[in-house]
Amino acid sequence: MAIRIYNSLSRKKEEFVPLHGNRVSMFVCGLTPQDQTHMGHAKTYVAFDVVARFLRHKGYHTFYLQNVTDIEDRIIQKMKSTGRAWNEIVSGYFAEYLEVMEKLHCTSVDVYAFATDYMDEIIEQIQGLIRKGHAYVAEDRSVYFDTTTFAGWGRLSGQKVEELRPGARVEVEERKRHPADFVLWRAQKPGEPAWDSPWGKGRPGWHIEDTAITIRHFGPQYDLHGGATELLFPHHEAEIAQAESYTGTSPFVKYWMHGGMVMVRGEEMHKSLGNFWPVTAALQRYEPEVIRFFLINVQYRGPIDFSPELLDEAKRAYDRLRETVRTVEAERRRAPESGPGDRDLKVASAKVLTDFDAAMSDDFNTREALAVLFDYARVVNKAIEVGAGRTALEETARVFQTIARVLGLFEDRSEGSTLVNGLLDLLVSLREDARKRKDFAASDRIRDALAALGVTLEDTRDGVRWKRK
Ligand SMILES: [Zn+2]
Repeated sequence: MAIRIYNSLSRKKEEFVPLHGNRVSMFVCGLTPQDQTHMGHAKTYVAFDVVARFLRHKGYHTFYLQNVTDIEDRIIQKMKSTGRAWNEIVSGYFAEYLEVMEKLHCTSVDVYAFATDYMDEIIEQIQGLIRKGHAYVAEDRSVYFDTTTFAGWGRLSGQKVEELRPGARVEVEERKRHPADFVLWRAQKPGEPAWDSPWGKGRPGWHIEDTAITIRHFGPQYDLHGGATELLFPHHEAEIAQAESYTGTSPFVKYWMHGGMVMVRGEEMHKSLGNFWPVTAALQRYEPEVIRFFLINVQYRGPIDFSPELLDEAKRAYDRLRETVRTVEAERRRAPESGPGDRDLKVASAKVLTDFDAAMSDDFNTREALAVLFDYARVVNKAIEVGAGRTALEETARVFQTIARVLGLFEDRSEGSTLVNGLLDLLVSLREDARKRKDFAASDRIRDALAALGVTLEDTRDGVRWKRK
């Protein structure tokens, strides 16, 4: 099934057709490492991790590039408040970010591009924009983009240059010719880190780094640009203005995707509002996979209302699902060749991946995809209850593995877990032997030791089965 993507540029769902055959170039606005990675970041990066995984699952050779804003106003503020060097701040918080991303199974990024590694490209682009009359050097040797020279300004956000008057939410800088103009190069102020440029020492503006990085890697046009909704204006609008003015090629990006935000009881998550949740705090209370499940249990464009109660609810739902996946893993190794539950199970298995594909192809609707998975799990549980055979369960295990790879869930079912499952089966059978010999001391010892590890035993029609908490 063809993928359809809601394109913020056209404000409608469009069929996804990459610019170059099977190759997909994908860029997502990355982190400014100056504070802890919070749940808002996690939502964005988990969402686009699923996008990249699904594109690869569909056979697209996807190159996923993410920038790292390693010089910016907030980093300079942090320098002032902590007395630490800018690069020390960046490397510390970026390391924390990577650790969090790994825990959340966000493993699909190919390259993290640091802005300060692209100074040559940044300077070259600014020079090109000045040369073509799209940018001007101000009195203090900062460089600004002249938004009145770009006819497409406002195409993405629906804003018009003339609507942007001084005041309101627009920061007024006297050096600008027009309030909508934005900085490409900021002249150095005392004590700030700076790089050499034709205009004197300074640092790049935030918007120019993305186009410097993507034009370097992808050329003047690429397929997919993602980011959180709050970046749509002015950040992404500025990217389009810079790139299209510089290269003369339009559209700069074919599909613009924007993810919904994390809200806390109807408000945005902000340190200043006291409702700020670093991912590490959430990880102290919830398993990484529960958090990931919680974050993809909405379609990416939707907002998430964040609260511990909702996370608790997600945990219960995810535990149910994971229990079914684990039961299938255990049952398929000990089930007889066939069983009375096979017929219904096979019918469901033949259909589930088509339904999953349809949900994911509809603008990466992970919420719908999870609903498909829950429906399937219900059929699976029922089949196991009445007795499912090995062949049918093997097929079910394959279905779960395929879906798990795309969604990045159930990943603890690794080699190590296969070993653990095998050892648990062995212990249960040794305990059965002990009971048959009436060696109740040994059988109780095994049961108690397993209970201490969170493994409970239950009698079923087919003998004793173990269950992990
Ligand atoms: Zn960006």
